Amino acid sequence: MKNVPLLINGEFCASHSQESIDVTNPATNEVIAKAPCATATEIDMAVASAKQAFEIWREVPVPERARVMMNYQALLKKHHDEIAEILSSETGKTFADAKGDVWRGIEVVEQAANVSSMMMGETAENVARGIDTYSYIQPLGVCLGITPFNFPAMIPLWMFPMAIACGNTFVLKPSEQDPLTPIRLAELFIEAGAPKGVLNVVHGGKDQVNQLLNHEDIKAVSFVGSVPVGQHIYKTATDNMKRAQCFAGAKNHSVIMPDANKAQVLNNLVGASVGAAGQRCMAISVAVFVGESESWINELGDMLKEVKPGLWNDEAAGFGPLISPQAKARVLSLIQQGKDEGATCLVDGSDFNLAGYESGNWVGPTVFTDVTEKMAIYQQEIFGPVLCCMAVDTLEEAIALVNRNPYGNGTSIFTASGAAARKYQHEIEVGQVGINVPIPVPLPFFSFTGWKNSFYGDLHAYGKQAVRFYTETKTITARWFEDDIPSGPNMTINLR
Ligand code: NAD
Repeated sequence: MKNVPLLINGEFCASHSQESIDVTNPATNEVIAKAPCATATEIDMAVASAKQAFEIWREVPVPERARVMMNYQALLKKHHDEIAEILSSETGKTFADAKGDVWRGIEVVEQAANVSSMMMGETAENVARGIDTYSYIQPLGVCLGITPFNFPAMIPLWMFPMAIACGNTFVLKPSEQDPLTPIRLAELFIEAGAPKGVLNVVHGGKDQVNQLLNHEDIKAVSFVGSVPVGQHIYKTATDNMKRAQCFAGAKNHSVIMPDANKAQVLNNLVGASVGAAGQRCMAISVAVFVGESESWINELGDMLKEVKPGLWNDEAAGFGPLISPQAKARVLSLIQQGKDEGATCLVDGSDFNLAGYESGNWVGPTVFTDVTEKMAIYQQEIFGPVLCCMAVDTLEEAIALVNRNPYGNGTSIFTASGAAARKYQHEIEVGQVGINVPIPVPLPFFSFTGWKNSFYGDLHAYGKQAVRFYTETKTITARWFEDDIPSGPNMTINLR
């Protein structure tokens, strides 16, 4: 049994805490490690180490900081499959999915390796006679990252490489449900040449997060997770005058026009709805069929019935188990509520079990039709392999439905009509829009642009925009030479 270490001041060390959280294999619920709930002293030590390291790290030239990221990128690539295997062991994700999780993170590290050009300020000559103005971009200090269970490689890598490349130091509090992957990422970061104290990792849950949120030496907070926690973190961080960006939950709709390519739609919806057991913030959880496309629902149901959950190393598995028995109980209770509230359960995965692995957190693909807006299965983020199908008569009705939803993370439209796609892209109140692609995958040279209850903050500061979140701008106005004052062309323009 592995006790997951903390990383404080460059050392991987055992916590002195008496409290820990079990890390389990979701396919069996066997305990594979214990994540300590870091003590208050350990949290203080992690922040103090980051604060001390900041004084040195901020002076390290930008290209040298970028070079650490280049080494890191190479190491992550070298250990890609090994990290993915650790990731599968604690999340249950299929190997293909786990590899995608790691790869998306590597792409952010590549962006961080290019930080030098993003750290450039602005200049203007002669803003007044003999006076020039220019600005510099400077790091903030100690930054904090709080991450969810569902992408234990990609999401920590969204945060600390960019923050650190900008000259900050970092404290990461990864999900207590799968901390083995982030700790492996941290080991490789140290191996890549990160000086001690630049990255610290502490474990735990609510209490540890709250202590960090109230710590005066933390300057900025990045969070990814559920809506209630995101709201709490945004409010607490900003009450404490910290900069905060909180990426939260989702209910993503796909709108299917009758002129769309049916085979493409159905194939795409299968992967987008139940892939990764629906535990993706960009999963499609509502399919809105417009007009005659409603007649495709039965065929979609037949295709989804064929998708079988399985073990991470079974290449035929469509997806893995849910993360925990609590997550499974929540999904099953929502499925039951859907039935009780009058939706038709076209495909019911609530009884699914994998032979030989009956104690795992399995739920099979589930499809509801006759779903209405008031039902719990529509109102709440299910975060399981459950697709709600709805039918409307027109594109206008579909747009109005999506816009009434309180979430705004991702959406897509399938259509052969440029006019319909243009109208959808223009009128929809959702941050990431796919046109004939089911899930608009976020790439680090664009922002990750959740709207409404899917994001609290002002900068969508992932990837390139992260430089704006993790830095301050300093503007300098300078008269360089005393001699300049009387000299210069003898021409006065007075517009006052
Ligand atoms: P979660 O909100 O339960 O936990 C996220 C983090 O917050 C964890 O590190 C956890 O320890 C901490 N935490 C939990 N409760 C807390 C509390 N009361 N006070 C302070 N900290 C607390 O989320 P999860 O279940 O790990 O992840 C799934 C959620 O994340 C889904 O809602 C999903 O949509 C969302 N998500 C969003 C995005 C996005 O980019 N918008 C990406 C991935 C996941």
